[in-house]
Amino acid sequence: MVGNWPRSVVVVGAGIVGLSTAWFLQERGVKVDVVDRGGVAAGASWGNAGWVSPALTIPLNEPAVLRYGLRSLLNPAAPLHVPATLDPGLWSFLLRFAANCRWSSWTRAVRANLPLNEECVEAYDVLAANGVSAPVISAPITAGFRTPRQAQGLLRELRRLEAAGQHVEHTVLDGGRLAEQVPLAGQALGAGVRIDGQRYVDPGAFVHALGKAVMERGATIYAFEVSDVRTDDRKVIVRSSKGTMLSADAVVLATGAWLPRLAGQWGVRVPVRAGRGYSFTVPVDHPVPGPIYLPDVRVACTPYRDGLRVAGTMEFRDPDAPQVPARLEAIIASARPLLRGVRWEERTDVWVGPRPVTPDGRPLIGATKAPGVYVAGGHGMWGLAHGPITGRLLAEQITTGKQPAALADFDPLR
Ligand SMILES: Cc1cc2nc3c(=O)[nH]c(=O)nc-3n(C[C@H](O)[C@H](O)[C@H](O)COP(=O)(O)OP(=O)(O)OC[C@H]3O[C@@H](n4cnc5c(N)ncnc54)[C@H](O)[C@@H]3O)c2cc1C
Repeated sequence: MVGNWPRSVVVVGAGIVGLSTAWFLQERGVKVDVVDRGGVAAGASWGNAGWVSPALTIPLNEPAVLRYGLRSLLNPAAPLHVPATLDPGLWSFLLRFAANCRWSSWTRAVRANLPLNEECVEAYDVLAANGVSAPVISAPITAGFRTPRQAQGLLRELRRLEAAGQHVEHTVLDGGRLAEQVPLAGQALGAGVRIDGQRYVDPGAFVHALGKAVMERGATIYAFEVSDVRTDDRKVIVRSSKGTMLSADAVVLATGAWLPRLAGQWGVRVPVRAGRGYSFTVPVDHPVPGPIYLPDVRVACTPYRDGLRVAGTMEFRDPDAPQVPARLEAIIASARPLLRGVRWEERTDVWVGPRPVTPDGRPLIGATKAPGVYVAGGHGMWGLAHGPITGRLLAEQITTGKQPAALADFDPLR
């Protein structure tokens, strides 16, 4: 450590959050190396829906999720699924999550997200304009519903977001206008809500381009699993179980749904659990001008290469557990009646990934109780949108020693 701020940092985790932090640290003159046990975008950052959608970063912990979650315990095909398990850590997490399914806690998370939402698109633009060569595409996100009455649920939610300070530019569509604007909308969809001013990316391509840019700016990306993090007076040392070691002035733990394994010992008591989602790619017979949202079945669709990426479901299961085919079938069964011209049987790229979920809907970004040990993660459903701005704010904190006001509500030691 020279002066009071680190000159070298090891980032553990090469997802959108870790690599964004690495890039913005490099921007501030810090020498960075990165470690990931599976290489770039090996976790949730690959197969997600790719929405960079500040207007829709709705926290998970709204009161309706509690009622919905209780019902889904009895129905393994429900979009939110908690498998019957004896894992006491999961049940204690779910109790804390349930305690946060209150409007006061939800509104606090929405308000805390406001500064991230305000700057998240700009943070993407900064990366794209400075060597991260992957497109960030502007498009509206259009939600489709069977009836105008069903659209009221989303409209109420958007009004709550607006009351908490989030600007959401949106237009209500009747069935005819929905069909015009979303050629894949099936006849079953009779109403829509278009949310303007959003972006989307191919998340795997973007994160790989970011990893390349970080390497071009001098970083090495090491492939090993960090099993241990230690500090002494001057350095932080990360080690694998086989004895591979790296040391630096500071470390950033950005290990997504695996965060508690390394962060717990540094006073981070807020649990993070994997809310696993699935996705796949399908060919389509009609153009896809922008992302499609099916709120009633909790499915998100995004233009992907020449087809459509379909993403959905949330199951609270170990992040490393194998795929559960029934979850995928449940997505298809729920979305098939709502879309037309989708060749479901020709699906490829079937993927499962762990959203890093916290009980209070707020991520963990900042310093731990050990000097030189920082964490960045727990963004749940919105880590892709908030990854770059997280990296920018955390890099500021690490290199100035001052917590930016925007990070106060995300303090990992809360
Ligand atoms: C189906 C689905 C759809 C989604 N859609 C969207 C969306 O449209 N928009 C949005 O904003 N968000 C979305 N998300 C959420 C988003 O994907 C995540 O919030 C985000 O990717 C989290 O990024 P991360 O960098 O924190 O974690 P990850 O991408 O999971 O990265 C963590 C990395 O740490 C590595 N690692 C873990 N432990 C160790 C260790 N001990 N040593 C070394 N390396 C380690 C892992 O290999 C992994 O690469 C979606 C998620 C899912 C599942």
